Amino acid sequence: MHQEDMAVTTLLREAADVGAALPCANNPQLWFSERPADLELAKTGCRTCPLRKPCLAGAVDRGEPCGVWGGEIIQHGRILAIKRPPGRPPKQRLPARLAQTTGA
Ligand code: SF4
Repeated sequence: MHQEDMAVTTLLREAADVGAALPCANNPQLWFSERPADLELAKTGCRTCPLRKPCLAGAVDRGEPCGVWGGEIIQHGRILAIKRPPGRPPKQRLPARLAQTTGA
């Protein structure tokens, strides 16, 4: 079993102990999406979770590679303020790119 799976299993067991349903249990894909908008939605889903603090602490301790844990976006065990979408960022700023396409 992967470390992520064991962590989620542990959280589910803890949630059952406190009699709560985990918001992430119904749609785990959202919590591990590549899309920044999905991750922001997942973060809001964590707000009501009774395990938010231990979830975040555990993710940081384990160095979780990715996903939303405890209401934060985690990458390699570090909290990210924002998640960039996949792919390379553009080399030029938008106005320069527009100037190229318009010939200005
Ligand atoms: S804090 Fe978020 S990721 Fe952690 S168990 Fe709760 S809903 Fe799931």
